[in-house]
Order: sequence, then structure tokens, then C-alpha cells
Amino acid sequence: MAAINAPRGTRDILPSESWKWSHIIKTASETMMDFGFSEVHLPIFEHTELFSRGVGETTDIVEKEMYTFNDRGGRSITLRPEATAGVMRAAIENNLCVQGASAKIWNWGPMFRHERPQKGRYRQFYQIDAECLGIASAMADVEVIALSIEIFRRLGLKNLEVVINSVGCEKCRPVYRQKLIDYFSSHKSELCETCLTRLERNPLRILDCKNESCGRVADNAPDIFDSLCSECREHFAEVRAGLERLGFTYTLNKRLVRGLDYYTKTAYEILSGDLGSQNAVAGGGRYDNLASAIGGGKIPGVGFACGLDRVALVMEQQGCSFGKMPNTDVYVASLGDDSRGAVQILTYELRKNNIRSECDTSGKSFKSQMKIAGTCKFACIIGADEIANNTVSVKNLSDGSQVNIPVNEAVNYLKENL
Ligand code: ATP
Ligand code: MG
Repeated sequence: MAAINAPRGTRDILPSESWKWSHIIKTASETMMDFGFSEVHLPIFEHTELFSRGVGETTDIVEKEMYTFNDRGGRSITLRPEATAGVMRAAIENNLCVQGASAKIWNWGPMFRHERPQKGRYRQFYQIDAECLGIASAMADVEVIALSIEIFRRLGLKNLEVVINSVGCEKCRPVYRQKLIDYFSSHKSELCETCLTRLERNPLRILDCKNESCGRVADNAPDIFDSLCSECREHFAEVRAGLERLGFTYTLNKRLVRGLDYYTKTAYEILSGDLGSQNAVAGGGRYDNLASAIGGGKIPGVGFACGLDRVALVMEQQGCSFGKMPNTDVYVASLGDDSRGAVQILTYELRKNNIRSECDTSGKSFKSQMKIAGTCKFACIIGADEIANNTVSVKNLSDGSQVNIPVNEAVNYLKENL
């Protein structure tokens, strides 16, 4: 029978890689806590409507990337393509932001998008996500951007670029939208087919089209800064001033619009110079209209999502440290079959005392056991003599020295010498 493989665009994160992921998540988690963000665990599937209304009907995600199916009860369910809409849904449903309260929450986990798989682009990928809900001030935008930069600083990522823009609000964006429609309509012959369909439905998306010809046209498109209302203009100036106060450098890119409809005012991305075309390691911004789009009244928000798969890829390429690879410190070996039981007892005792230990459970010879023990710091050897005297021989594997001690002193001895 043919073997069954993982679906296209998914992959297994095996032990050789997963310990590196643990380091990234631990670093992110500590940074989140230092910034006052609390972790949440949310459903991986939601009602499809959450995304069609929240992310937006005319976005790439909703139009062509969602994993949507009817469940056995005939409800339309979607595997989450991003985290923000779910976080906002949870905040509304659990009254986290009533009467002016704010909430700073983060989570990490798999997201699902039906895209063409390539390096740094998968159908099941992982995001680390932070959202600050209930605060309209530009200082929250600055805090969120600083948080994402700080995570990358702690991970040792180099060669990053912070790109920011403002996408306006429901007051000024319609004006800008019309200016774009007028402009792009006079350049129809230079636009790709996708952008021609975007022209009426979502002209802002033409600005971030990767097609070269569209890019040339977009470069000369009307500038959003000229259309921003005074509130958005002021907000953007405050974000910029805040970033400068904290000593961050950034570039402005008027073509950065992000792929989700819910963004208002600030939009930003963090790009890596080492990722080729999948170069965004994190993206985010402000979304003051998301709550009302999903029926939750007025809750301003700002956040970011960071692509874990891509961060791991860049760190690997840049030779960043993932910390110490977890290793077994002590190998307990049986010299002869009669001591296998005693070996398992001692190993369990060491483990109960937080000493990382391993023993053979498959019947390997003493020689094979000692070969495996080679990567550890100590080997504890139990044979017939040790059993008779209630002792264990502890061999220091870095210098070859060996002592014989009472078995009930093994924990203390190893704790002192590890
Ligand atoms: P891109 O322009 O690369 O498609 P995006 O704008 O669709 O990215 P966001 O929705 O902003 O991505 O998601 C935030 C981050 O999640 C991205 O910056 C990226 O690091 C990561 N990401 C998005 N889609 C994928 C994917 N299919 N595979 C791996 N990582 C992804
Ligand atoms: Mg995308």
C-alpha cells in the first residue's frame, strides 16, 4: 500500500528543529511578559463569518486562501488564517474591554492559508501574535512596534528593516480610494489581471502588487499622506515621534497597505534582508474598525503577527544562537542483564530530581550503551558488584575518572558535579 504523506504545504517540525522553535517561543514569551502582555489560547477554527466580515470579503485571504468547510452540523467553519479577528472576537465575547478597559494579549500557534507553497510560505504556518485592545492612542502603536523589535533584538536577528505607513481611516480613505481609482483607470493597460479586478473592489491592494509593471505604476500613484485627515495625520506624526524617542530607525513606504481590510491608520512590517521574496518576518498595525465589523461596538486595537517559520529560517541563515541544545546529562548503564531493573529505578530517581537522564529500554549490550552515553557528562554504571553492595559507579565522561558511591548518594553527587 502506498505510504501516506503530509498534505502539500505542511511539514513536520522534528526534534532537530523543534528545540530551536522552543527557544524562539520562550524568548517571545518572556518579552511579552516584560511588556505586560498575557497569553491566551483560542480556537483554531472559527465561524467563517468572523473572517469574511473581519478580514474583509475583498482580501486575498478571504477570496482565495481560506480553508473553509461545512461541519457535520452544516455550519460553515474556517481554519483560522490569522489571529487578530479571533482575539477580537474573544475580547468581545468575554467582555475584556468593557467601560474603557484595555487588554494586552498574545498567543502563538498554527495558521492556515491555501497559498502556493515555497520557501518561507506554507499552508500551515505558525505565528506569534500580540494585540493591544482598547487603546486609541499612538503610544500603544509605539509600544507594539517596540515589542516586536525587542523580540527580534533578543533573538539576535540582524539586517532588519522597519517599514511604516498610514492607511487612513473611514473618513479619509474613501477620498484616497477614489483618487487611486481615477489614477489607475488611466493606466489600465499596464496593470496585471488581478489588479484590474482590484481596481473597483480594492484599489489599495494594487499598491502592494508584486508584479513589476504594476509596481512601476504604483510608484507614481497619488500619495496617501496628501489625503490623510487631520486626525490620521496627527496620529502618524505621534507614532513617528514615539519611535524616534525610543531610538528606532524606520523607513516610510506609501505602498505598504497590508493584505487585511481591518487596518486603520498605522500599518507596519518588519522585513529581513535575508529572505528573498518571502521577506516579511512580522506585520501589523492599527485596526480601529475590526470590532464593529464583527458586531462588537467600538474597540480600538493595534497588534502584530510574526511568522515563526520565517524567523527560524532567518536565524538559521544568520547563524544566530538558539541557546543550548537540550542534552541528556547522565546515562545510566547496566552491566549485565540482571541490573536492568536497578538501572530503571535509579534513572527514575534522578529524573524526579530534575537530572536529565536516560537509560536503555531495548536490551542493548553494555558496549552499545556506553557508546550512547558518550554525549552525556556522566555515566552511572550498575552491575552485579554494585547491586551486591548497593552502590553505583559514576564515571565522569569528560576526564574518564570513576568513583564508586552508595546508590542513595547518587543524586547529591551528580547535583554537585554537573
Ligand atoms: P506575505 O506578504 O509574505 O504573504 P502577509 O502580509 O500575507 O505576508 P500577514 O498576514 O501580515 O502576512 O502575516 C504576518 C506574518 O506571518 C508575515 O509577516 C509572515 O512572516 C508570516 N506569514 C504569512 N503568511 C505565511 C505563510 N503562508 N507561510 C509562512 N509564514 C507566513
Ligand atoms: Mg500573504
